[in-house]
Amino acid sequence: MERILVIEDEGDIRQVLEYNLRQAGYDVTGVERGNAGLALARERPPDLVVLDLMLPDIPGLDVCRAMKADARLRKVAVIMLTAKGSEIDRIVGLELGADDYVTKPFSVREVLLRVQAVLRRSSAGGGPDPVEPVVFGRLRIDHTAHRAWVDDREVALTALEMRLLWTLYQRRGRVQSRGTLLDDVWDADPENNTRTVDTHVKRLREKLGTAGDYVETVRGVGYRFAAQPEDGS
Ligand code: CA
Repeated sequence: MERILVIEDEGDIRQVLEYNLRQAGYDVTGVERGNAGLALARERPPDLVVLDLMLPDIPGLDVCRAMKADARLRKVAVIMLTAKGSEIDRIVGLELGADDYVTKPFSVREVLLRVQAVLRRSSAGGGPDPVEPVVFGRLRIDHTAHRAWVDDREVALTALEMRLLWTLYQRRGRVQSRGTLLDDVWDADPENNTRTVDTHVKRLREKLGTAGDYVETVRGVGYRFAAQPEDGS
């Protein structure tokens, strides 16, 4: 699920945006201050930020500038909310790297359309750098294409299973606790618990068949992707 961070101090506008973006299927977090928004974004980079430029603590443009100066946040899409007539802000924002803007007062539909367009654009090219397919023993993962093969047989993985596999693979040789996996793979939805991790690891292993052994259980702790293919016994 694509994640959107709404930074807007006006409560009613923020709530309308949060509600409607959620209805549209996005994972939405809203905050009212620029610094809090930046901190949240750094903690867990969103796919897109809806950024009001007039915030009580720091100017929205500073939030945008800080994001574009941060390697991990540079590619996060930004849509600015600007006041009517604040053309300079708009131009500066776009020069700073914001993707688009919506002028207040706006219709929710307008914002939704911009959000969809910007996300489509960033996933089509401007998003995260494509990752070369990797080969690990019997397993081949093309993360960018969201595809995986075992012994040249394609394995149909859900988006969640792919995220789980990729997270484990990237941290191979290192134990990952169930809590860490919940945080990083599931975004720690409070409805989830550690049983969720076990269930999905089990299913992932089944789907991977002979390569399922690469995902090792570390008793009492969590899971670990084998450091070397031959470790998978
Ligand atoms: Ca404001």
